[in-house]
Amino acid sequence: MKISFYTLGCKQNYAETSHIREQFEKNGSTVVEFGEPCDAVLINTCTVTENADVECRKIIRRAMKHSPDAWVGITGCYAQLQPEEIASVDGVDAVFGAKEKFNIQKLVTRFEKADTPKIFVDDTEDLDFVEASFSENDSRTRSFLKMQDGCDYNCSFCTIPMARGASRSMNFSEIEKHIRRLEQAGYHEVILTGINLGEYNAPTGERFIDVLKFIDGLKPNVRVRLSSVEPNKISQEIIELIAESETFCKHFHLPLQSGSAEVLRMMRRRYKADYYADLIGRIKSFIPHAGIGADVITGFPGETDELFEETYSFIHGLPISYLHVFTYSERDNTPAIGYPGKVPVHHRKERTTRLRSLSVKKKFEFYQQNIGAELIVIPEMYNSTTGRWNGYTENYIRTEFAGEPSMIQQPMRVLLQSIDGDIMIGESVNSVANSITPEYIPLLIA
Ligand code: SF4
Repeated sequence: MKISFYTLGCKQNYAETSHIREQFEKNGSTVVEFGEPCDAVLINTCTVTENADVECRKIIRRAMKHSPDAWVGITGCYAQLQPEEIASVDGVDAVFGAKEKFNIQKLVTRFEKADTPKIFVDDTEDLDFVEASFSENDSRTRSFLKMQDGCDYNCSFCTIPMARGASRSMNFSEIEKHIRRLEQAGYHEVILTGINLGEYNAPTGERFIDVLKFIDGLKPNVRVRLSSVEPNKISQEIIELIAESETFCKHFHLPLQSGSAEVLRMMRRRYKADYYADLIGRIKSFIPHAGIGADVITGFPGETDELFEETYSFIHGLPISYLHVFTYSERDNTPAIGYPGKVPVHHRKERTTRLRSLSVKKKFEFYQQNIGAELIVIPEMYNSTTGRWNGYTENYIRTEFAGEPSMIQQPMRVLLQSIDGDIMIGESVNSVANSITPEYIPLLIA
C-alpha cells in the first residue's frame, strides 16, 4: 500500500507522525510524498491553530484531488477533541484519538473508502508514553527527541491537557540508547521535546534535572538543545549546569504569555512576572550570551490597554532575544472562554503586530551583541546559487556564510560579522567536525 502523511502543529506532532510512518513501513507500506497518488492518507492535526477545522478540510481536499479513492484517516489533538466534527467532513474514513494513534494498523483491517467514517477515540486516561523522534530535513543536522508527553497544568486558555492527557515521560533507562542512536546516525544536534518538558518525571523517579545531568555526563558527540520549558521548572541548578556544560546549547525558550501580574493570574500560570524577570536576569548573569526566546499571547480576556502596555514595557526591559507572539482565540471547554473583558479581535491583532515589531528589535539587538564572536554553526541548508550555507549557532542565531557543498555535517567555527535583515552574516574560520564542543568567544559582550 502507498501511504502519505501530513502533519500540522508542533514538533512533537512531527515526531509522532514519524513514528506512525515507521510503523507503516515496518508492515510493508511504501511512504510517498503528500500530493503524490496513493492508497491512503493520514493527517496528524493540531488544536492550537486558530482554524483547525478549516485547515484540516483544506488538507483533506488537497489529498482527495491527487488520490480521489484514497482512504483518509485523521488523528492528533483536533481529532481527540472534535471527532464527530472531523468525521462529518467529506472524504474522511476514520478518526483516531490520542490512545489509538499508534495502533492504527491494529484498528483498521482494510484501508478502503467507507460509506460511514469510523471513530476510534477513547478518553485520555492512562495513556502510555510512546517514544518518537523526527528529523527536520535529510541533511541529518538535527533531530527532535520526544522525552515527555501530556500536561497536568490547567492554564485557563489551553486545551492540550484534554487532547493529550496527563504528563508522562520516557523511561530514564532509555535515554542513553536514544542519544547514542541519533549520534551514530550522524546527527549533530538533538532537541529534547515535550509538551511540558520540565515536568519530566520517570516511572523510576528521576526528574528533569537528572535527565540533564545524565545527558551532560554522556558527553555525546552531538550538541543538545532544550525546546520550550515552563519558567517555573528552570532551577538555579539547571542554569548552572547549562552554563558549564559542553553539551547543552546556551539557548532557553521560556513561555511568558503575559508580563502583567493580573493577566498571568487569570491565565493560571505558575509563576509571577517578577519571578520571570529575575529568572532571565540570573540566566544572563551566568550565561551572558544565552539566546532567550519567549511565547506571548495577546488579547487574553481582561487584558486592557493598560495591562497590555504593562506586558509591552516588561518585555521591552528584558534581555530577551526573540518572541513568538500568538493572538488569543477562544477554545471550547476552557475556563477562559467564559471570562469577561473580551478584547475585540482587531485590538488583539494590533497588539500582536506591536509585539512582533518589538521582537524584530530584540533580535537585532541580540545579534548586534554577538558580532565579533566566533561560534559553532551546524551547516543546514546550502544555496548552490550563492554558494552559501545557513545554520544555527548554539545560542540560536541564524547565520549564513560562504562555503563548499562538502561542508554538510561539518560543524563550523564561524566569525559573526554583520547583520542582513534577520540573518547574521559570518565567515567560516575552520571546521570543527568530530569536535563540536561549543566554545564561545565573547569578544564584544559586556
Ligand atoms: S503548561 Fe499550560 S499552556 Fe502549556 S500545555 Fe500545559 S496547560 Fe497548556
